[in-house]
Amino acid sequence: MRMLIPICHHCNQTRGVKKHGKSKVGSQRYYCQECKKTFLTKYIYKGNEAQIARQVTRLISQGNTPEMISAVLQVGLPTVRHYLVSDK
Ligand SMILES: [Zn+2]
Repeated sequence: MRMLIPICHHCNQTRGVKKHGKSKVGSQRYYCQECKKTFLTKYIYKGNEAQIARQVTRLISQGNTPEMISAVLQVGLPTVRHYLVSDK
């Protein structure tokens, strides 16, 4: 099973994203080589609904399953389905 890499919050790319240790509260930190910035998945996506909706729509259009999107965006499967339904 291949590892799921989250999308960079700053430039929306996945190809340059690497794990970059953990934050003080234990969230996974990532570093994006494309835009040279770090971001935290749990911190970033929580409460950032417009961003999630956009990502879900884009990932689905690229052929990803809701399960994969849930893992990539670090949000629950019900949340992913919520955006799928509301988008149609
Ligand atoms: Zn980036």
